Amino acid sequence: MNELFARKKLAEVCRLLYERNLTVSAGGNMSLRINENEFIITPSGRNKGLLGPEDMVLMNLKGKVLSDGKPSMEKGFHIAIFKANPETASVIHCHPLHCTVLAVKGEKIKSRLTPEGVLLLGDVPMIGYFTPGSKKLVDAVAEQASCKAMLMERHGAITQGRTLEEAFNRMEELEFQARLQIMAGDADELPASEVKKLMKM
Ligand SMILES: [Zn+2]
Repeated sequence: MNELFARKKLAEVCRLLYERNLTVSAGGNMSLRINENEFIITPSGRNKGLLGPEDMVLMNLKGKVLSDGKPSMEKGFHIAIFKANPETASVIHCHPLHCTVLAVKGEKIKSRLTPEGVLLLGDVPMIGYFTPGSKKLVDAVAEQASCKAMLMERHGAITQGRTLEEAFNRMEELEFQARLQIMAGDADELPASEVKKLMKM
């Protein structure tokens, strides 16, 4: 993927995440792979609604910064997910309100309440709490790197996708499912036989 094109696309999605209330102020970080070994990532400490293409930081999977700017301090788990999944093009981490409500309560998300949840998200693990930016957090994320989406206790959510749009759609769906779960109380999940059928689609 052309780097300039990727920078524009990532800035667009950051704005969309911000406008959809999926992230607030400087929270979260988003990345987009441009080739096998390089990706761009949002800069550290900036409002996601105000980022332009020129603000994104180019890095490689060894963690070396290849452009101007200071990358997000969570670059480590983006790298871990990219390394574990050669087909993954994008990683999105943010703190959507309803996901974070579940994450602070330590309540696992029920992604099987609706067919969309099953299709877009699959099983969503909750990883334990570790200090943001720490190696322990990177290791915990790496252990679940094959999952389409995960919650991080007392912190927020991560999704990945084969395209930027897929990673965005999964984050939007994850937040919808979290909100649904909070509003629908103790509704049962779809029966196992139906989940199995959906998984094959
Ligand atoms: Zn965070």
